[in-house]
Formats: sequence, structure tokens, C-alpha cells
Amino acid sequence: MFWMFTRKKIGIDLGTANTLVFVEGKGIVLQEPTVVAVHSVTGKIEAIGSEAKEMVGRTPDTVIVYKPMQDGVIADFKITQLMIRYFIDKALGKKYFLKPDVLVSVPAGISSTEKRAVVEATLAGGAHSAVIVKEPILAALGAGIPINKSQGFMVIDIGGGTTDVAVISVGGIVSCTSVKCAGNKIDAALIEYCKRAHGLAIGEQTAEDIKKEHISALLLSPDETFTIKGRDLINGLPKTVTLSSNELVKAIDSELKQIVRAIKEVLQKIPPELASDIIDGGITMTGGTSQLRNLSALIEKQTGVHVRVAENALFSVVEGTGVLLAHLHDYQRSILIKK
Ligand code: ADP
Ligand code: MG
Repeated sequence: MFWMFTRKKIGIDLGTANTLVFVEGKGIVLQEPTVVAVHSVTGKIEAIGSEAKEMVGRTPDTVIVYKPMQDGVIADFKITQLMIRYFIDKALGKKYFLKPDVLVSVPAGISSTEKRAVVEATLAGGAHSAVIVKEPILAALGAGIPINKSQGFMVIDIGGGTTDVAVISVGGIVSCTSVKCAGNKIDAALIEYCKRAHGLAIGEQTAEDIKKEHISALLLSPDETFTIKGRDLINGLPKTVTLSSNELVKAIDSELKQIVRAIKEVLQKIPPELASDIIDGGITMTGGTSQLRNLSALIEKQTGVHVRVAENALFSVVEGTGVLLAHLHDYQRSILIKK
């Protein structure tokens, strides 16, 4: 019975698209969409995670579906707190006596007000203590980068809401930028394109599925075609349309350009020693959108630097929380706040 009384350590990657939870000694125990469905009149939570995501686009007026981490910051404090509580309870199986120590990842560009909001939401959500660490640090640790070395590494995390570009050296972030352009904006561009070019209305989920399967960041040769289903904007009836991958490369061109511009910006402002480290070591990409077909090739072409996509791209940040929790002492200088 002794184990019941040890305090658990938990790492949470509160992403704009997905929330993942790591429990020390167990590994990743949970991966769910960062989505909450709330009753519009009573304010009661109807569903969290996958169950709530399935409701997107299918709810009656009485249910509102929120994505509380839109754009990488806490857009709704109360909902975020309830979500953290739900994820902690689910990760620990509710039967715990001591509140856990919780590490939460935050965007690198977070303001001090937002930082405090995350700490408060974590403590109010059931944590004994809250440790806050910047996401690029965790992404790097999870991708196997020895961040404490005095050598520069570039990590690009492209998730749902944001693209975060960071240069890390000696356990800290030397230079970084974040743009609110990633998977969600690519989905939105696709929805817009289907409307404009084909008079077809498609839902968010359909757009995301098409993106994962058919979108490429570079023109394909030969081109590939496929069919998609939606609603005809003129007569309102269900309709099937044939699209080509190459027409979609153009449809998402402005989103890809924003991402590339952010990367170039960081590369252009770092000191020469670090630039030379990055040429030697290459760029590491993490996050779900880093898996977009040919995106690494596009970035390589535009920057002239070798790009590798982390094997565990969707899990790098949460696995990084696991590495940090196991070696808290070694990574003291990477911790932003501890409370
Ligand atoms: P966040 O950290 O913001 O929650 P994630 O790193 O979990 O985001 O990535 C989620 C995003 O990655 C979503 O926009 C999703 O559509 C996208 N994504 C996941 N797998 C792929 C894939 N194979 N190709 C392209 N995009 C993908
Ligand atoms: Mg993320």
C-alpha cells in the first residue's frame, strides 16, 4: 500500500490542438484534443477531449464547443482550469491521496500575466506544485537534443495554433519567435479555397483529414488527384468534387510563406557562432504539422540548412516533460517559474 502515498510527478503539454499527459514511471498516459463542450445555459461541462471534438459542427444550440488554448495562450481561464483538473484526474485514475507535482509547458513568448494564469489554473486544477517550462526547451529535450551544451540548436515546433522557432544553447532560449500560423490556419485556407474555387462547403474535420493525406508543401510530379465530399454552396445539396494536390499547394502558399519567414527571421538575427552551429547540426522540427508532406524539404530549400523531423514529432514536448521531471536538478536553469 506504500505506493499510494508517494507524490506523483506529472507533465502536461497543453497544446492548441492536443493535450498530452506524462506520468513519471508510466510514460504518456493520455492524448486528447484540447476541446471542451459546455452547456450554453447552465455552463456545465458536457464533454472534454475526444468526445467534445466529435461534437464540433454537430451540436444543438444548447451546447457550445470551445478550443480554450486557441493561438497557444489561455483564452478562457475557468475552462482551462476545469480541463487541467479533468486531465490530472484521468491520468491518475482519481484514486490518489497526495496532490501531484505538475509541470506544464507554455509558449516561449508568453507574457507574465499569462504565465501567472497558467500557474493559477494548474494549482486550482488540483496540483500540489506547478513548474512552468517553455515549450521549445521541452520539444528539444523530447527530440533528444543535449540542451545544456554550449552549442546552438534550432528547434521549430509547428502545432495547431502556432509555429515556434527557437535557438537553444546552455539550457536556455537565445532567440525565438512565434507566429500564429500552423495547422489550423492551413485547414482554414483549405476550407476557404474549396468555397472560392469549387463552390463547396467542407467542415473542419474534413479539411484536417484532406491535409494529412493529400497536401504537400512542394509541387508534386506527377500531380495526384482525389475526391472530397461537402455541400454545394449554390443549391445546398451534398456534392463530390475532384481536387489535385498541386492546386492545394497554391491554396496554402501564404501560410507556408509565413512559417518560412519566421524561420528566416530567427536565422538572420543570431550571432555568427550560433549560425555556424546550426549549419553543422541542422534544424530539428517537432509538432504535428512538421509532418506535413514535403514541409521539411521546403524549409531546407528556403534556408539551405538540413532539416530533420523528430521521430516522435507529436510527442516531443510531452516526452520532454518526462526527461525534465526525471532530471529536475540538471535542468534548473530551464525552469521559468516554480510555485
Ligand atoms: P499543438 O501542440 O498545438 O496541440 P500538435 O503538435 O498536437 O499541436 O499538432 C496538431 C496539428 O498537427 C493539427 O493541426 C493537425 O492537423 C496537424 N497534423 C497532425 N498530423 C499531421 C500530418 N501527418 N500531416 C500534417 N499535419 C498533421
Ligand atoms: Mg505543441
